[in-house]
Amino acid sequence: MEQNDEFQEIRSAVRALCADFPDEYFRTVDAQRGYPERFVDALIQAGWLSAMIPEEYGGSGLGLTAASVIMEEINRCGGNSGAVHGQMYNMGTVLRNGSRAQKETYLPRIAAGELRIQSMAVTEPTTGSDTTKLKTTAVRKEDRYVINGQKVWISRVQHSDLMILLARTTPLAEVRRKSEGMSIFIVDVQEALARGMTIRPIPNMVNHETNELFFDNLEVPAQNLIGEEGQGFRYILDGLNAERTLIAAECIGDGYWFIERATRYANERVVFDRPIGRNQGVQFPIAEVYIEVEAANLMRFEAARRFDAHLSCGAEANMAKYLAAKASWEAANVCLQTHGGFGFACEYDIERKFRETRLYQVAPISTNLIFSYVAEHVLGLPRSF
Ligand SMILES: Cc1cc2nc3c(=O)[nH]c(=O)nc-3n(C[C@H](O)[C@H](O)[C@H](O)COP(=O)(O)OP(=O)(O)OC[C@H]3O[C@@H](n4cnc5c(N)ncnc54)[C@H](O)[C@@H]3O)c2cc1C
Repeated sequence: MEQNDEFQEIRSAVRALCADFPDEYFRTVDAQRGYPERFVDALIQAGWLSAMIPEEYGGSGLGLTAASVIMEEINRCGGNSGAVHGQMYNMGTVLRNGSRAQKETYLPRIAAGELRIQSMAVTEPTTGSDTTKLKTTAVRKEDRYVINGQKVWISRVQHSDLMILLARTTPLAEVRRKSEGMSIFIVDVQEALARGMTIRPIPNMVNHETNELFFDNLEVPAQNLIGEEGQGFRYILDGLNAERTLIAAECIGDGYWFIERATRYANERVVFDRPIGRNQGVQFPIAEVYIEVEAANLMRFEAARRFDAHLSCGAEANMAKYLAAKASWEAANVCLQTHGGFGFACEYDIERKFRETRLYQVAPISTNLIFSYVAEHVLGLPRSF
């Protein structure tokens, strides 16, 4: 399962860092429902979370393909990139759409590890996947915007200094297209907490810090608007494609992790006087998911290649995320089944990774919404909603 691609240096370096954070580390953090602070600090210190920041702002200037390899390796080593991946795509939103002043203010400090931009607030409780109907409003008052509304499932806010917030600046009834009239803002989390934003954590199935957010007349300086007012949805779509591609890579990492564990155990575990892996009933499902992970991996690299080449990549990013999330989930099932009862024991880490990889069929976009995107935008079928 060794990959002979051009990213060997990155792969070896990330693996070396991850070697200091063995299964036991992530298992303990999971049991405590904690945040892997020490691991995240190590990634920041080593510069991995500023990989995509251009060199002129103090980063490494790598593309999404390389960034996706970093995320893949973390998951492949038994960790969970869900604690950190936000920085990769949120930084890109500032880089692609921010003003020079915004880039100069934030990017060097993010690259230096002084600021974290781990959070993006899009989803709302009453509108869910129907993003353009979101109800959070941002109303311009002289040199600031006043924000009111509510968000749900907003990850890593408690471990982030900055958050990208999507809000409606022109009422839905007054825009020509429903994707217009929304804007994005850089929110300083600590300032916001002192001026009208409240956080309510959501305990959940995965050890993933995610929250409800409430905005009560939160004032954000007008200079924190990213790009042009009303165009925020368009800006955020690029970030969503990057996010889907990175998460596809994480699922690929998970998939290889499950296959490696399943293979090892199937070779070692002896029942009825033979390794269980000698039974085709055990080995075929492992071979099948390996084929599926390999195939999904090709689409992940194609999505990343198109993103880096500034080509349209909505279809590929969605398809990569769909295929990889499905393959990793099937690999998780096979790995659990191969381990029999021991798969349920926390000390094997399979149940933890099983929970973690399941998330990706729902977030950041659910499978049905990917089908709907492909049906409408790729196949030209009638819009269903
Ligand atoms: C752990 C976690 C972390 C998250 N982190 C973030 C974050 O950091 N920032 C953020 O903004 N959001 C975040 N999300 C939200 C996530 O993006 C949404 O949960 C996801 O997009 C699905 O939206 P929903 O939960 O509102 O489901 P809904 O939109 O209510 O959909 C529920 C189900 O119905 C299906 N469905 C809905 N409409 C249709 C239709 N027309 N046709 C067919 N099927 C349909 C969906 O596919 C889904 O299976 C997170 C979610 C989770 C669970």
